[in-house]
Amino acid sequence: MGVLIEKKNGYDVISAEEKTAMEDYCKAYIDFMNAAKTERECVVECIKLAEAKGFVPYKAGMELKPGDKVYYNNRGKNIDLAVIGKKSLVYGANIAAAHTDSPRLDLKPNPLYEAEEMAFLKTHYYGGIKKFQWVTIPLELHGVVCLKDGSKLEVKFGHGDEPKFVITDILPHLGKQQAAKPLGEAIPGENLNLLIGSVPVEDKEAKTRVKQYVMELLNEKYGMVEEDFLSAELETVPAFDATEIGFDRSFIGAYGHDDRVCAFAELKALLDMEEIPERTAVCIFADKEEIGSMGITGMISQAFEHFMNDMCKGQGVDLYDCFAKSFCLSADVTAALDPNFMEVFEANNESRVNHGIAICKYTGGRGKGGASDANAETVAYVRKIFTENGVLWQLTEMGKIDEGGGGTVALDMANRNIETIDAGVPVLSMHAPFEVVAKLDCYMTYKGCKAVFEAR
Ligand code: MN
Ligand code: MN
Repeated sequence: MGVLIEKKNGYDVISAEEKTAMEDYCKAYIDFMNAAKTERECVVECIKLAEAKGFVPYKAGMELKPGDKVYYNNRGKNIDLAVIGKKSLVYGANIAAAHTDSPRLDLKPNPLYEAEEMAFLKTHYYGGIKKFQWVTIPLELHGVVCLKDGSKLEVKFGHGDEPKFVITDILPHLGKQQAAKPLGEAIPGENLNLLIGSVPVEDKEAKTRVKQYVMELLNEKYGMVEEDFLSAELETVPAFDATEIGFDRSFIGAYGHDDRVCAFAELKALLDMEEIPERTAVCIFADKEEIGSMGITGMISQAFEHFMNDMCKGQGVDLYDCFAKSFCLSADVTAALDPNFMEVFEANNESRVNHGIAICKYTGGRGKGGASDANAETVAYVRKIFTENGVLWQLTEMGKIDEGGGGTVALDMANRNIETIDAGVPVLSMHAPFEVVAKLDCYMTYKGCKAVFEAR
């Protein structure tokens, strides 16, 4: 008796009281998702929520005492938050790291063109997408346009009541050749062009009359000229809002659950912390994970060291000593077992919806390639703190051995000599413009992050 693993459906173990807490949590998550569709918007929203809870911007050399709450905004695209613990940083920090960038279509530097009396914007996709999923859905353009005079426009073209954009596809009647192609080749990257207009300027002598008119509209409203696209970061994101899914409302559908569903969980866990933690708690929203975590705002960036080292210096602690004693939950999503695609799963080693936060010892594919394979000791540690804190958890791989695998920021943290393990929400249709997660798993991931931050 009791010697075999019992896989539990969360609805069999969750109390009525916790169900209410779960619904409240998920409502707040849906609001967050509707406000934050890009990494920049996540930082803005994060600061708004954090400041309401007493967090202040971190300043170099700032004197910090236990219970102080600070955030470090790295160029508006990556943010670290900390609640200072009772113990010195020489005993390490409890860290949770998630990424807030999601697969999308960025605009090319020279995006605007006209063809057959229609105007388009050319995109270059960002991260791993199935290109065919991005045609014929309503889209918006979010981001920044940096003008020559040094000013910066923050825009959400197509948001709210504004007109949307779309990428067209061929009708099935003329799609015979397309239908014969492998799915991955049916829509080439160079076809992912946003339809943005068709009205020509009055001047019949103008060469590209439709393009001219679109640019005149943008100039009138935003003072933009075509050259300004060169110094812009405009991200094409789905126009639809996050919404409940299912007759029983047990799921949430949204763009960008990967990885905002974990980012929000760790943020909320940090903001909800009522008592001063033993160890300093650090929450990270990283950028650029979907293209390898590189660059100045990615998890590999020294910006993280810069922030941590400065806090360490204030306590007379060596950063290396702090890292060596720290723990990091790399909070990232994983693939949920999907009964429609059983051929790619090994059912006994996959995460299931409503079975809680999914711990992933290693993520790499085909022989653990490229994985940060967490130590057995680390798995045991996480098992223990989750179980002690009423967190429903499961242990997962990501698909059959020879099918694939995935990547997270875990190795970037482990490479810093920080004990690290992946755990997060199982997702259906991951990397699609509209992904699905179970409310119960979102809530358990929040509880998991809370357990990590509160651990001694
Ligand atoms: Mn991810
Ligand atoms: Mn991803």
